[in-house]
Amino acid sequence: MPRFSPMSDVLWPRTAPPAPEASPLAGDIEAEICIVGAGFCGLHTALSLSKEGRSVVVLEAEEVGFGGSGRNAGHCTPTFHHHSLSGVTEMLGARRSEALIQLQLNASDRIGEIVRDYQIDCEWVQNGYVMCASTRGRMAAMTRKRDDYNGAGQATRLADADEVMQLTGMHGQFGGWVHPGGAHLNPMGLSRGLARAAEEHGARTHIHSPVKGAVRDAAKWRVTTPGGTVTADKLIFATGAYTQGGWSRLERTFRIMRVMVGATRPMSNAADVLPKNVTAHDGRGNILVYKLDAFGRIVASMFPRLMGGRVRMLRLLESRLRYHHPSLPERLEWECLWTGELDMQRNTIPRLYRLGEGAVAVTGLSGRGVPTGWTVGQVLADWANEVPEADLALPIEPLAQAPAYMAIAPQLALRAYELRDRWDEWRDGQSARPW
Ligand SMILES: Cc1cc2nc3c(=O)[nH]c(=O)nc-3n(C[C@H](O)[C@H](O)[C@H](O)COP(=O)(O)OP(=O)(O)OC[C@H]3O[C@@H](n4cnc5c(N)ncnc54)[C@H](O)[C@@H]3O)c2cc1C
Repeated sequence: MPRFSPMSDVLWPRTAPPAPEASPLAGDIEAEICIVGAGFCGLHTALSLSKEGRSVVVLEAEEVGFGGSGRNAGHCTPTFHHHSLSGVTEMLGARRSEALIQLQLNASDRIGEIVRDYQIDCEWVQNGYVMCASTRGRMAAMTRKRDDYNGAGQATRLADADEVMQLTGMHGQFGGWVHPGGAHLNPMGLSRGLARAAEEHGARTHIHSPVKGAVRDAAKWRVTTPGGTVTADKLIFATGAYTQGGWSRLERTFRIMRVMVGATRPMSNAADVLPKNVTAHDGRGNILVYKLDAFGRIVASMFPRLMGGRVRMLRLLESRLRYHHPSLPERLEWECLWTGELDMQRNTIPRLYRLGEGAVAVTGLSGRGVPTGWTVGQVLADWANEVPEADLALPIEPLAQAPAYMAIAPQLALRAYELRDRWDEWRDGQSARPW
């Protein structure tokens, strides 16, 4: 079985503008900073550094955006998914967490500026994010979220059931939490646009150049690909869930979890589904998140069941969508269905690993990489600019293997959330919603 889901299933490469021209590395070149991996982490780092005049080379095994960055669902929600802000502080300490929280909470606005400044054609829409309360009791969690994020300077708010209906078209919700910073986009369009923007500042990107290894020689890193080498002062691996070789045991720092994304054919009545084209989250344990693309497709993502193929996955997406939007036809016309890989690790906040003097790796974004890729890019640029480690927004840790239980823990958590949903719905006196 191939290690990664096929890129040929994904919608975005077909609807995004073409990638900037790039070729495999041929020969031996030099740079101040060599970045391995042309995903959001690598490309935001490359853009930040090249903008400051640093000499940067990006080496990509396949093509720009080949990993999660070109195939995700395209939701940019500037929050922490699994943790409250106080949870982030508990994990990282006051100083680092303050910096990380400010980066992450502002990520969507900053990406929006990049999109405008470099005229990146990526269907960027910043109409906000609505997380629904699927049971009455869940409004308390929404209130906590509002207080948490507004306490950190955001202007989020609660919405009642009527307003949720107006924003999302969803029936049967009890209210929700509205975050005006939420955005959505064509992620391959953003990946390719970031590569082009970095190139405008002099960064060089080489595709089809898988890094086979790196050695430290005379205070420099020599990074080897089949066609040539890069000699650099600093080396960054940003290879995420799609790590293929390059550095021993890097792929053991996380465990893979699959996500599915479905896109309907363009629908003439798309605005009935999401009248304000927000990013909509249906508030359940196995989250259904969806939006409209620029052509009127509903693009929806969920975690698939462990067993079952395409038909079962589409049925899952369809039954959830139809529950919220009863006017949808019995059978939706799906144009594409794809899956992709997340690099899950225990605390779900990205992890930076020390590979040697002047070399670090980042993995373990555990989803939410659209805003977090920008956040990590700023931290990696600070690191490359010799900001003292104690002042970085993320700690640099020794390379460590993800615990074995992470192979199953996210799936178990998902099942537990689903049972919790059932229980809460029963207590609410609701008829059972579709799984
Ligand atoms: C199906 C799916 C849906 C998702 N939906 C969302 C969403 O809606 N919102 C959100 O915020 N996040 C979402 N995510 C998560 C998000 O896409 C990822 O967290 C993010 O893109 C990771 O970025 P990255 O730069 O760390 O890694 P990647 O984008 O995976 O990039 C790593 C790159 O490194 C390259 N590489 C690997 N090994 C080598 C090597 N040896 N030499 C050279 N290059 C190498 C790979 O080919 C790849 O291009 C989703 C992910 C998936 C898979």
